[in-house]
Amino acid sequence: RIVYVNGDFVPEEEASVSVFDRGFLFADAVYEVTSVLDGKLIDFDGHCARLDRSLSELGMSMPMDRDAFLEAHRELVARNDIGDGLIYLQVTRGAADRDFHYPADATQTVVMFTQAKPGLAENPQAQTGIKVISIPDLRWDRCDIKTTQLLYASMGKMKARAEGADDAWMVDDGKVTEGTSNNAYIVKDGTIVTRQLGNEILPGITRTAVLRFAREAQMKVEERAFTLEEARTADEAFVTSASSFVMPVVEIDGARVGAGAPGPIAKRLRDIYIEEMRRAAS
Ligand code: PMP
Repeated sequence: RIVYVNGDFVPEEEASVSVFDRGFLFADAVYEVTSVLDGKLIDFDGHCARLDRSLSELGMSMPMDRDAFLEAHRELVARNDIGDGLIYLQVTRGAADRDFHYPADATQTVVMFTQAKPGLAENPQAQTGIKVISIPDLRWDRCDIKTTQLLYASMGKMKARAEGADDAWMVDDGKVTEGTSNNAYIVKDGTIVTRQLGNEILPGITRTAVLRFAREAQMKVEERAFTLEEARTADEAFVTSASSFVMPVVEIDGARVGAGAPGPIAKRLRDIYIEEMRRAAS
């Protein structure tokens, strides 16, 4: 695999970053994940805009402009011959002698790598749906920033797997915030409910697109917090993310959601999302 490190495209075995990189020492880094379908980038501009925002919330700026990022993404996709897959973009504050205070003169580290996922849009899991467990949301209060601080998400996914589930929904004060790596939704009496944006959740790029498509299709959408109890008694549930698009949730804490099979609204939104985003891909 060819990866991108600070301006160079190199075999992964030859790529390196400093032991003193603040991404490694402090998780002082942000990232983005963009999906690739038929060799084209899905919603690149949305991911680029969120990267800019994540960086500025942490007092950093874009290491290169949108066009340069787009060109590097395209080149990496081409060099790795990615048809369907994912491309990761990681930006750290750079390397400096270990100190909590931000260094005045560090040069940001920029890394990009791909993951091939043949048939990403035809993921068979979308036919059966996924099972989630609930866990308390023990993350910090700036979950709107896409930092590389992903340990709690890893712990949640490990706990889910140990309990025979696929993922975890996080709960704060009785209300669902989001999935470990996706935004969470329920459907009740035809209305789609998902938590409103705020510091407690990541503003999903897929979320923005899916809510737009839902409204365009005259579906009712409510952006508000919902309880775990509401979720358990909902007609449907699903999650959205760049890597899973729209993924039905059929079980929460061992209890079936609705009929225990992917619901019609989740299925329809998945189809619309994939079709529309393929069309608009860059
Ligand atoms: N929430 C969290 C915590 C995530 O990690 C992700 C995936 N990046 C999302 C939501 C979904 O965001 P997106 O649709 O931009 O992939």
